[in-house]
Amino acid sequence: MSDNDTLFGKIIRREIPANIVYEDDQVLGFKDIAPQAPVHVLFVPKNEAIPTLDDLKPQQAELVGRLVLAAAEYARREGLAEDGYRVVMNCREHGGQTVYHIHLHLLAGAHLGRFGTPR
Ligand code: 5GP
Repeated sequence: MSDNDTLFGKIIRREIPANIVYEDDQVLGFKDIAPQAPVHVLFVPKNEAIPTLDDLKPQQAELVGRLVLAAAEYARREGLAEDGYRVVMNCREHGGQTVYHIHLHLLAGAHLGRFGTPR
């Protein structure tokens, strides 16, 4: 683990509780504490705490692929894939990022409508 310790680092190390619903060798998935859809799960890299997408290096590209694959596998497992879902990664302030340890949101369980409206 790098020295970018965040709330998600504490969840990964089981120092604070979370509703963990997915785990493999590289990715942890847990339910978002403030869900924005009937199903809202966060997928985070377990072994590297990269602050934002803007910090991602080409040699770390596989890690983002693993987040996407983990979300897709979870969605299939939970019977969400046929109806469909959305995955989102927020980057910094205008993207709405609040936790600076990259993560992928999986949103599902209802028609989600359009997105990206400026506030
Ligand atoms: P961001 O806004 O950075 O893209 O996403 C961070 C997400 O973490 C938010 O959707 C927020 O609800 C979620 N979150 C913040 N604190 C906690 C927590 O303590 N536990 C869990 N499970 N989710 C959290």
